[in-house]
Amino acid sequence: MQNRGFVERIAVERIWRLFELAENEFSKHPERSRRYVQLARKIAERNNVQIPKELKANYCKYCSAYLKLGKNAKLRIKGKMLLLTCLECNKTRKMGAK
Ligand SMILES: [Zn+2]
Repeated sequence: MQNRGFVERIAVERIWRLFELAENEFSKHPERSRRYVQLARKIAERNNVQIPKELKANYCKYCSAYLKLGKNAKLRIKGKMLLLTCLECNKTRKMGAK
């Protein structure tokens, strides 16, 4: 495929943009935020790119909710792991600590 790097970069930019929109909508329209996250994940999938790791803690991979700590997400530290709990679907995901 031609311009693979270029397409990837555009996809990642769109993902960032969608998370920004999700952040902006979150306080008033959390459901809209979820839609932005779903869209971002679809873009990632279709273009075969990863959601940037800076954004990994900002959504629930189970229900695609946009997550905000102290609002609909809880973060706990267990040993070297971070446990991120989505309060929308109550699932917990392990993340490596930074
Ligand atoms: Zn969830």
